[in-house]
Amino acid sequence: MAFTAKVITTEEWGAISARSFERTVPKFIVIHHTNNQNPPNDSSKGTVEGGKKLARDIQKFHIDGNGWSDSGHNFLNTTGGVLLEGRHGTLNAVKQGMCVRSAHAKQDGNRLAGGNQSPGIENEGNFMTFNMGQKQWDSLVELCVSLCESCNINPKNIRGHREFSNTDCPGDWLFSQLPRLRQEVADKLGTTLEDDQPLLKLGSIGQDVIELQQKLADKGFSPGRIDGDFGENTRQAVIAFQRSVGLTDDGIVGPDTRKALGL
Ligand SMILES: [Zn+2]
Repeated sequence: MAFTAKVITTEEWGAISARSFERTVPKFIVIHHTNNQNPPNDSSKGTVEGGKKLARDIQKFHIDGNGWSDSGHNFLNTTGGVLLEGRHGTLNAVKQGMCVRSAHAKQDGNRLAGGNQSPGIENEGNFMTFNMGQKQWDSLVELCVSLCESCNINPKNIRGHREFSNTDCPGDWLFSQLPRLRQEVADKLGTTLEDDQPLLKLGSIGQDVIELQQKLADKGFSPGRIDGDFGENTRQAVIAFQRSVGLTDDGIVGPDTRKALGL
C-alpha cells in the first residue's frame, strides 16, 4: 500500500552524504523526542527552513558527537509538523516496505529487540511534561499511518524508545500518549487494535514464520532451514519447545507459545 506522507528528503535538506545502509524488515515504529527546547524557543520555529536546519544540526551531532555514519533516526517531525528524512535511503526503503539499519534504539538488557531495524521518528522537543501541539501530533499520526501501510506494521507496534533502551525518551507525557496514537492510526487505517495475530502451524508461510524459526533456533530448538515455511521440522521444534516450558504440545503457535518464545 502507498506511502503518502510528504517528507523532505536528505537531498532537499542538504544532508552530508553518507554510505548506504543495509536494508531491514521493520516490525516496530519507534517514537523519540529530540530532548531540546519546546515552543516558543524551539530550534525550527515551526518553519520548513528551520526544520531543514534542525535536520542538518542533528546529523552533524550524530556524526561528529556520536561518531555515527549518519543521522541515527529515520525521520524527524518538527514542531511545525514538517517531516524530514533522517538516515539516507530510508524513504526509498519504506516505500518498498523495508527500512534501513539505523542507530536510534539499540537493545539494552532484556528490553525489546529490533528497534534499529525499524523506523525511528524523532519529534522535536522535550515531552517529559510538555504536551505536543496539534500540528506536530497530526504529522506524527500521518507518518505512522503511511509507515503502517507501506511496511505492513501493526499499529500495536508503535512503541516508545524506552521500551528498547535505557532512556527516558520519548518523555513521560509522549509515552503516555502512545495508546491514543495507536488508536488514531488504527482508525485511519480502518483496522482494530485487537489481537489479530494468526495461529502459526503446519503449512503457514511468511515473515512471521521466519521470526518463529529464528526464535526457535536461538533457543536451541532447530527448526531446520530458516526459510519461512512451517514444515514438519518446524512443527517438531515447536513441540519440543512447548514441552520444555510446560505448554500443551500441539505444535501450533498461538498466543501462549508466542509469549513464551518472546514473539
Ligand atoms: Zn529516543
